Amino acid sequence: MTSNRQFRPATQLVHGGTSRSGFGETSEAIFLTQGFVYDSAEAAEARFKGEDPGFVYSRYANPTNDMFEKRMCLMEGAEDARATASGMAAISAALLCQLRAGDHVVSARALFGSCRWVVETLLPRYGIESTLVDGRDLANFETAIRPNTKVFFLESPTNPTLEVVDIAGVAKLANQIGAKLVVDNVFATPLMQKPLELGAHVVAYSATKHIDGQGRCLGGVVLSDKDWIDEHLHDYFRHTGPSLSPFNAWTLLKGLETLPLRVRQQTENAARVADFLADHPAIARVIYPGRADHPQAEICARQMKGGSTLVALELKGGKEAAFSMQNRLEVVKLSNNLGDTKSLITHPATTTHKNLSEEARDELGIGPGVLRLSAGIEDAQDLIEDFDRALSGL
Ligand SMILES: *Cc1c(COP(=O)(O)O)cnc(C)c1O
Repeated sequence: MTSNRQFRPATQLVHGGTSRSGFGETSEAIFLTQGFVYDSAEAAEARFKGEDPGFVYSRYANPTNDMFEKRMCLMEGAEDARATASGMAAISAALLCQLRAGDHVVSARALFGSCRWVVETLLPRYGIESTLVDGRDLANFETAIRPNTKVFFLESPTNPTLEVVDIAGVAKLANQIGAKLVVDNVFATPLMQKPLELGAHVVAYSATKHIDGQGRCLGGVVLSDKDWIDEHLHDYFRHTGPSLSPFNAWTLLKGLETLPLRVRQQTENAARVADFLADHPAIARVIYPGRADHPQAEICARQMKGGSTLVALELKGGKEAAFSMQNRLEVVKLSNNLGDTKSLITHPATTTHKNLSEEARDELGIGPGVLRLSAGIEDAQDLIEDFDRALSGL
């Protein structure tokens, strides 16, 4: 958009960052090109010197990716961003680009499985120490600090049990020791939680989830202030090549246009299903940020603008009941993905979190009866009736 008016998120998500070609196309153009042609040898030299702001090579930057990055920056209140081929490319880049041997990372232990592997297994291979803590208590982050602590890492709400971490509290600790806080904001979406406003230094997304939200492509993005991107991510990104395909950047731009509509409906559906399940005799507990009985309802209210599109539930009958209910669901599909327009349910103990030890699963509250529901945009009543039918047979 041309003027400097401050538009609201729903408007930015449709128009923000758009850069039209000479044809004046309505929909954003897909620049499926690897390289760029220069008018002269002098022009190429100027481009490489950074004296001419044009594009050089799509591993570094691409016009379609640029639109996606700019739109995400507007949404997040970030100065700069880099789009990546997947969420894991985003998270691993956000951590590795700023760490070196001898550094120490403090991370909440409730993490997406692959994120936990990066922190617990990959980083130590390169001489980067890591400590995993119970992120529900802020004091645990403080206790874990060492003289070489450089980065704090967390997700909130967490996968799959929807624990909440006090982002502003951890950011304050990070600032006290000159460390950086990286937040994986996938579960909250950029609509429900703004980590940078809460004091985090870097935000990373799997755009595969709500941002695409229609089960089509993988993607990710890392956002921060310009200084951090220039100092840490810029060279790492260029030379290790986690770049997003321009075709997928275009798909994600289309996803952003409808993000608020989808997330609103998904959140409303999740809340209604959570209320139904909480009253059902076969259910031992429901964890839903946005319900007054969430164990950390006070932090939810402080740092989130609404509930969640995800619900964690535990069946009284353990694994047998959880499997039996899953197998009876008709509308809700069995899948480990999330954030989709289709409602999806998964049994973390045997799928996404099967690689953790039983002890680690117990610590995280991932018992045999726990399921994670990602609410879609179907009619909420059909979802409730689906669960009602599936549970009535138990
Ligand atoms: C899915 C997910 C990731 C990884 O994203 P991919 O796009 O699958 O690589 C990281 N963190 C969280 C919280 C996720 O849900």
